Amino acid sequence: MPAIARLRYLLPGSPKGAVTRFAPSPTGLLHLGHAHSALFAAALAEAAGGRVLLRLEDIDATRCRPEFAAAIEADLAWLGLAWDGPVRVQSRHMPEYRAALDRLAACGLLYPCFCTRADIRREVAAAGHAPHLAPRGPDGPLYPGTCRRLAAAARADRVAAGEPYALRLDMGAALAAAPADLSFHELGEGRLRCDPAQFGDVVLARKDTPASYHLCVTHDDAVQGVTLVTRGADLKPATHLHRLLQALLGWPEPAYAHHPLLLGPDGRRLAKRDGAPSLRALREAGRTPAEVRALAGW
Ligand code: GLU
Repeated sequence: MPAIARLRYLLPGSPKGAVTRFAPSPTGLLHLGHAHSALFAAALAEAAGGRVLLRLEDIDATRCRPEFAAAIEADLAWLGLAWDGPVRVQSRHMPEYRAALDRLAACGLLYPCFCTRADIRREVAAAGHAPHLAPRGPDGPLYPGTCRRLAAAARADRVAAGEPYALRLDMGAALAAAPADLSFHELGEGRLRCDPAQFGDVVLARKDTPASYHLCVTHDDAVQGVTLVTRGADLKPATHLHRLLQALLGWPEPAYAHHPLLLGPDGRRLAKRDGAPSLRALREAGRTPAEVRALAGW
């Protein structure tokens, strides 16, 4: 369904005055898939008499670069997309994510995990699973729970010794602490039941970054007053976990609109690594903003 037609179909479910957002990670130049997503967020906000926000999800210092952040703003402005208010830059808000983690920890819902990827592979193999048959969640292989079972004293010793650790959500404890009937409202589909358990003991703070995508995105949608989360369908499974975090942390529930991913001529999703042309390259090749919007499905 063309993007405009799809929008008409979604509109009746859109909250009045919807606050939507486009939240790219500055790990490269934007391509047509990003333009599709940004224009989807803007169109839904505009049609509902609301606002669209821009957020740079740059907590991964190893992959994000300031020049890509600057390019995102310049390319969106060239495309004719105007966002409301200041751009939120996640790396400037680390203490806020820390505070949210502290709240979960105070409820006994987090534990430190010292495992390396190799440790996890070994543990999974020891449990008798061939690597390709091991249980997987939306973020990869399910964590076998090794560090959840550590005795408190061993845990404290390893932290005190300075061993690096990630923080994982104790999914069993989290499910017990949250309402059993979690669901989310997907525009055009209605209420969908959540299954956060599919993530297992998910990482909420990484060893190298004291936060994670799931924590930061949920936190920021709440503090920025986003009422309609707009993003690609590849992130729809994450919503099951985001609703759990919202319930545990007392954050409001937004509605969701996941758009189908824009596909390349080969039928595969557009990706920088497969040579999808950047908006910058299209602009330098003489394409106008209107032409690029059309290429992006609008
Ligand atoms: N930063 C994420 C990405 O670039 C999108 C996050 C979201 O929209 O929830 O894929």
